[in-house]
Parts: sequence; C-alpha cells; structure tokens
Amino acid sequence: MPLSAQAQPKPSWTLVIHGGAGIIEKGRVTPEQEKGVQAGLDAALDAGAKVLAAGGSSLDAVQAAVQVLEDDPHFNAGRGAVFTWDATNELDAAIMDGSNRAAGSVAGTTTTRHPVAAARAVMEKSPHVLLAGPGADQFAREQGLEQVENSWFATPERRRQLDKMKANDKLGWFDVDLKYGTVGAVAMDSQGHVAAATSTGGLTGKRWGRIGDAPIIGAGTYADDRACAVSATGAGEFFIREGVAHEICARVRFKNETLQQAADVVMAETKQLGGSGGVIVTGPSGEMAWSFNTPGMYRGRASSNGDRLVAFYGDER
Ligand code: ASP
Repeated sequence: MPLSAQAQPKPSWTLVIHGGAGIIEKGRVTPEQEKGVQAGLDAALDAGAKVLAAGGSSLDAVQAAVQVLEDDPHFNAGRGAVFTWDATNELDAAIMDGSNRAAGSVAGTTTTRHPVAAARAVMEKSPHVLLAGPGADQFAREQGLEQVENSWFATPERRRQLDKMKANDKLGWFDVDLKYGTVGAVAMDSQGHVAAATSTGGLTGKRWGRIGDAPIIGAGTYADDRACAVSATGAGEFFIREGVAHEICARVRFKNETLQQAADVVMAETKQLGGSGGVIVTGPSGEMAWSFNTPGMYRGRASSNGDRLVAFYGDER
C-alpha cells in the first residue's frame, strides 16, 4: 500500500534519502556492500532526523544527511565518487529551499570536500545559482569550505570500475550500466518548509566536462513549499530532458496528484525516453514517496511519527 494511503496523523517532520538507483538486486550486491550501505543510510537518516527533531530547518537536515553520505565511500558522491575518463573525480551537487525557492549548485568541482556545502554557499553567499569547474572550487575556498586533494575522493573500487568500463568500451561514451550511488535527501520541517539536496560524482568514464542532472535545478533537484521537494538519481541526460524534479512538483501543484502518483507518472515518462533511475519526494502535507524504474534503489525514510525504513530492493514502500 502506498504511504499516501496509510491512515497516519500528519508528521511534524519527514526525511527521505537515497543512495542511488540501478541494478540493485539480491545476489548482485555483496553482503559487505549491503552492510556498508545500510550503515551509511542509517547514519544519514540519524544526522538529518537529529536536526529535524530538534526543530531545525529542512535545509540544514538535507545538508547534514547528504554530507554524511558524501564522506562515505560506499556512495557515488564526495569520497567514493566514480572516476572520469581521465581517472579524476569531478563532483556535482545542488540544494534548494522550498520556502523561497532559493537554490544553489556546483558542477565539476575537484577539491571541495563537501560539494553540497559549496552549493549551499552559492545559494546563500552569492547572487548566482550554478557555479562550475575551478571557479566553483575557488568560491568554496574563499567561503572557508574545506579543500582536499582530488585523490582524497578516489577509491580502488571506483578505479576498478573505470578500468573495466574502458576495457569493454566500444563507442567511448560513458558507462550507462547503472553503477549508481548518487545521494540525495528531501525533508519537511516543523515549520512546514521543504528542502532538497543531491550530490554525485556523475557517471563512470564521463568526459568533456559532462554534467548530469543533479546540479540542474528542476532536473535532479527541486523544492517548492507549494508542492514538494524532489531529489533524483539515474541517467542524468534523460532526467534533464524530462525536467524530472520540476515536473513532479508541477503535477502536484496543478493536477492535485499525490506525490506518489506524480512521481510514478514522471518516472514512467522518463523511462519512455530511455532513462532509468528513481526519485524521492516529500511535501508540506507530510506525505513521503519514492519511485524508481530500476530493479532497486538504496533508500530510507524517517518521520516524527516513528516511521523508519531502509530498503534496497523491489518496491517496498
Ligand atoms: N544522475 C547522476 C548523473 O547523471 C548519476 C546518478 O544518479 O547516479 O550524473
């Protein structure tokens, strides 16, 4: 039964997180990987829930949850990000405040430890929405955000994935084999404000400055108190073309669909374009939803009602 159909009192806060969608099937994920991902998602839920339970803002909660996952090498964001074609790490992230639709994002950063913190600084400390490349890192540095060597993000497993991809490469495009692990969070706080954040290393073998949907406001990330907050993961090119996150919010706003209905329709439409992946959604109504057109999605949710779940496979809601 979808969450929206459950008779529960409206929670005073909600939090939904994802750690990427893809070919996440029982038997394919090693027990060690399962354990690591479970622990990472639990830690991220704890970090966000702590903020919300103390009466903090949805904005602070989504940033706190995402930063935990950026530091966790099990996920394709921050440390543990996938490699570019040139065996470097280039990071994309975004954050959005549903109360005033302020937004900030960074693309292709290489030295800022927490790209989501850089996105927040762009939103709050600059007149801009999206900064890219060395300029984005320079801005983050000037804002006093922690800088690291690019090699700090690298892990042997991601290097192995790049080498394997290159060995199999026919066309020289990036890997579309859904080795995802992008992270995101959406939340509603006790003031009824929603926020969304997403962070990713993109796709293995990306090159030519390729940027995905995560830092594109309206595609991989969107938040609007009049509708909902959305964070996406998947084959970014299709999510950009569909305008996934904004499209879900627009359906909720103008068609009065539940979050689940809107998310399901938009993920089905994205699939028709050829795009696989998933989304997490929450709104001022306290509804929480997720939807994905892949075999699984690393995901979790928590709310003031005591509702808490971490799931990987199938369509467990
Ligand atoms: N959406 C991300 C991108 O295309 C990848 C992912 O979600 O894993 O950059």
